[in-house]
Amino acid sequence: MTVITVKNLTISYNKKPAIKGINLEVDEGSIIGILGPNGAGKSTLIKGILGLLPSETGEIKIYGKPVKESLKRIAYIPQKEQFDWDFPINVSEVVMMGRYPYISLFGRPDENDKLIVKEVLEKVEMSDNQFTQIRNLSGGQQQRIFLARALAQESDIYLLDEPFVGVDAKTEKAIFELIKELKEKNKTILIVHHDLSKVKEYFDKVILINQTLVAFGDTDKAFTPELINKAYGGRLTILQKAEQLFKS
Ligand code: ADP
Ligand code: MG
Repeated sequence: MTVITVKNLTISYNKKPAIKGINLEVDEGSIIGILGPNGAGKSTLIKGILGLLPSETGEIKIYGKPVKESLKRIAYIPQKEQFDWDFPINVSEVVMMGRYPYISLFGRPDENDKLIVKEVLEKVEMSDNQFTQIRNLSGGQQQRIFLARALAQESDIYLLDEPFVGVDAKTEKAIFELIKELKEKNKTILIVHHDLSKVKEYFDKVILINQTLVAFGDTDKAFTPELINKAYGGRLTILQKAEQLFKS
């Protein structure tokens, strides 16, 4: 079943295109990596799918419907820098934001909302920090509560923008285990990611992007040295040279 359809999507900032003519059809129940060099338009693509940016051309359908009608079904973890971590709010308040789509405009969280927040905090092992002000969290804890907020939303699609940035190896593993649990429940997860060494382990499919779509498909077909080099256009660091990823 197709859960996300992107047709001919072009998004520009100040008339300069950041992504051009993107076409995608994403099936249910897979973990998909969005890869490309800095400035390739990965975050723009995610925001475009969410309808957060005006598009120049193109159309997005979520479960066959316009994005606006499907917002409950999409959970979004923004890139960490795009969140105001100095805002005076505590951990459980941030996670409760995941319940907002279910709470009426002047309503209050009910017992069920509170129970869900408690459960997801346990899942990400942050129960002991529920009253901690978010400015006092470590990088790993920040990503854990972002994930908790996304889980609290009980969505079907998860768009995660660099969820492993600034986290320790233990947290990365814990987060990825929870992502795999989502997949087992037939959820669809798109992850912007920059550590190419983990791609084959993590993703069923990859989207290689550099302004235009370079490749989209099963990891073993789309994540090849030729296509990686095409997407990164010589901008890979020595440590990440595409060929080296395929040595073993
Ligand atoms: P990525 O996430 O792949 O690093 P982005 O989607 O953030 O790339 O950015 C794609 C391009 O659009 C870059 O050239 C970036 O400088 C530009 N861009 C991103 N956001 C803005 C913005 N708010 N205003 C102007 N230009 C932007
Ligand atoms: Mg980005």
